[in-house]
Amino acid sequence: MEGTGKIWMNGRLVPFGSARVHVLTHALHYASAVFEGLRCYRTPRGPAVFRLGEHVRRLARSAKMYSMEIPYTEAQISAAILKTVRASGLDECYIRPLAYRGHGWMGLTPTKNPVDLAIACWRWTAGESRAGRGAAGIRCKVSSWARIDARAQPMKAKAASNYANAALARVEALEDGYDEAIMLGPDGAVAEGGAENIFVVRDGEISTPPLSSGILEGITRDSVVQIVEADGGRVAESAIMREDLYVADEVFMTGTAAEVKAVASVDRARVGSGRAGPVTRALRRAYMDAATGRDERFSEWLTPV
Ligand code: PMP
Repeated sequence: MEGTGKIWMNGRLVPFGSARVHVLTHALHYASAVFEGLRCYRTPRGPAVFRLGEHVRRLARSAKMYSMEIPYTEAQISAAILKTVRASGLDECYIRPLAYRGHGWMGLTPTKNPVDLAIACWRWTAGESRAGRGAAGIRCKVSSWARIDARAQPMKAKAASNYANAALARVEALEDGYDEAIMLGPDGAVAEGGAENIFVVRDGEISTPPLSSGILEGITRDSVVQIVEADGGRVAESAIMREDLYVADEVFMTGTAAEVKAVASVDRARVGSGRAGPVTRALRRAYMDAATGRDERFSEWLTPV
């Protein structure tokens, strides 16, 4: 990755190359970290962060679920995010705030360590991968790894520990020649991708797994639902089974990094035409219009940098 600008660490902007942590940082050993992923887009009114308030609130909630007291208010975190982007000089970037247990005490109990906060940003046009950004769509594999049971850990938290599971699924998918994994929840229903929520289109109806299925409350997911509703449609929240993916007209994934991505095939079964379908294309365009300030109806989603 390209190391640009400065990284905000506990209130100080430090040069990219000097943003270091101690090797006994608790989070490195016990995954005691929660984080966010946001994007800043170039808009007609200058660079703006998309849904800043919602991302900062989700970070605060993720921290609360893990008894982490971030020593900054949501307003202070939002201001620090904007300051970091400004200092980078980038007009389009991905932003990664990370709250983590630092060092001082070694052993399982996280609460004996301070909660540190870091905010980095970088140019990341492609997001997690270039695949699926065009009309071609991504090839997905239903993972042999089940998504973590929400009875085992809070899956609504965007916690580092969730990503050990997602990374196993991702690596398996890549090694088997796919672009991304789709994970089933402990009940066998479709949960989410490694770093995306999932939507299915069939006979004109758009559906997505309910939040009760142990998935991240995706902000892109919510944006897509709100866009569909603003245009007079609706998205059903209902359980999606593996076989529903095979016979769908369209499947697409949403995420801050992925934006709106078409799924071309699942387990080598072609989805619809095998290319981005009309609903996916329309929603991708509508989402990008909202995120880049070209759709005035959603201008309150943008915070100028
Ligand atoms: N699920 C998982 C597991 C994710 O990592 C992400 C990316 N943050 C999403 C869903 C999508 O969430 P959002 O739209 O808020 O980026």
